[in-house]
Amino acid sequence: MTYETLKARIRGAVITRFDPEFSTARDGLSWNGRKPEPLAQVIVRAADARDVQEAVRCAAEYGLTVSARGGGHHFTGIAARADMVIDLSALNGLRIDVAARIAEAGPAVTNTRLAGVLDQKGLAFPVGHCGSVAISGYLLGGGIGWNSNLWGIACFSVLAVDVVMADGQLLTATAQDHPDIFWAARGAGPGFFGIVTNYRLQLYEAPHGASSLVRVYPASAVAAVADWAERLGGRMPACVEFTIKTLRTPGGPMMAAIANVFAATPAEAMAIGADLWSDAPEGALEVIGPMPTPIPALYEMTAPSTPEGSRYGVDCLWSDGAVHEALVANLRAIELAPSEQSFGLVSVRGTAPALPETAAFSQSGRIFSTLYGVWSETEDDAANLGWLRQSIAFCNEFATGSYVGECDLDRPGALFPTLSPAAVSRLSDLIARYDPAGRFVASARVTERSAA
Ligand SMILES: Cc1cc2nc3c(=O)[nH]c(=O)nc-3n(C[C@H](O)[C@H](O)[C@H](O)COP(=O)(O)OP(=O)(O)OC[C@H]3O[C@@H](n4cnc5c(N)ncnc54)[C@H](O)[C@@H]3O)c2cc1C
Repeated sequence: MTYETLKARIRGAVITRFDPEFSTARDGLSWNGRKPEPLAQVIVRAADARDVQEAVRCAAEYGLTVSARGGGHHFTGIAARADMVIDLSALNGLRIDVAARIAEAGPAVTNTRLAGVLDQKGLAFPVGHCGSVAISGYLLGGGIGWNSNLWGIACFSVLAVDVVMADGQLLTATAQDHPDIFWAARGAGPGFFGIVTNYRLQLYEAPHGASSLVRVYPASAVAAVADWAERLGGRMPACVEFTIKTLRTPGGPMMAAIANVFAATPAEAMAIGADLWSDAPEGALEVIGPMPTPIPALYEMTAPSTPEGSRYGVDCLWSDGAVHEALVANLRAIELAPSEQSFGLVSVRGTAPALPETAAFSQSGRIFSTLYGVWSETEDDAANLGWLRQSIAFCNEFATGSYVGECDLDRPGALFPTLSPAAVSRLSDLIARYDPAGRFVASARVTERSAA
């Protein structure tokens, strides 16, 4: 293929390694300041789904591997690791049918935009916890979003996907039509063997009483905070999201226990908050709230922890063990982190999220623990990645699996599984059937690593 041929067939932009803006464009594919090994030879900025089809056909004609790039937020930069990267940024259409409570959303629609538009209409969706993330890869990997104890893992609220397949065909997959493809598009993440160009989403009534409460404790209170979290897990209603953030401060390592209450009314939120706080441990250094926090406002609270341009290494695990062991491991890791910007999250539920077999999303647990390594300088990459990988390895005893959206897919050796053995087997069969030439290069890699 001459790149001129490709350029003539694509209505959007084609940037090749011979173009002066190529290295800037390639670096821009990954949100993480730490860029992946450069692989892309050509970037196709698709104008629409037809461009995606044409680009995939061109890649097939010339034997190039392909990767879709949604928002480029996967911490490993996996979206940028193929010969041809198809950037979906322009596929950002958004239509809401208020009466039917359904949205049609392009993959590049961000959490902030979706949450903001829905909130204005009194509606909501289990959007992710950070506003700049696109729904593209978020939904494909599962999507652990706001109020997910009540609304479920976000991919279970996907009703249909439009997908460009490895042969360039564009089809719509639902529970009735192409159910295998629909199954895979809900949880396979980078292991998916097509490119989603549109999502149809089930919407929910906005929680008109959404509010947040925070209690900050020193690390020395870890046993009391873990006991309290266990008690809350046993009694809090599904509309509560309870997360303990571990962080470094000038006063030493701390835990911020955060309760996000997605109640129907402010009065209900007050009552729930009062119950949550009723047996909280003594000795909080700071108590904040309750404060009203509609979902768009939550993004103002989460954004400062993950500034754009910083370098990141992130990994996560599910556990059905005791909160105490997960919290101690997470806190200990943060105490030892080379960077003071690094932080951890331990989310506690009453029960593990349900896993209907209608979706590839097939790993969960009562506890979800994440370590966010955040630093600034290239020369600190090795120290921070070494710390991350060592810290996660210490969790072998109690981890039951991982989440593909925030998993360190580059970790040497075995990963905690991101899919169940049955899902790995089914996905591998589907990849062999729908992408026999291995056009979507990340898919085989994910199934191999998940099976490890
Ligand atoms: C600051 C931050 C906060 C986060 N918070 C959360 C959170 O609260 N909950 C959560 O669940 N996750 C969270 N994540 C993880 C995030 O949801 C995933 O990394 C997700 O993949 C990001 O979507 P993306 O479109 O940017 O993916 P990309 O990085 O663009 O792509 C990731 C993978 O998915 C593939 N892909 C992406 N879009 C498509 C598509 N349309 N069709 C086919 N393949 C596609 C790519 O080829 C690649 O293999 C967070 C990430 C960041 C950076």
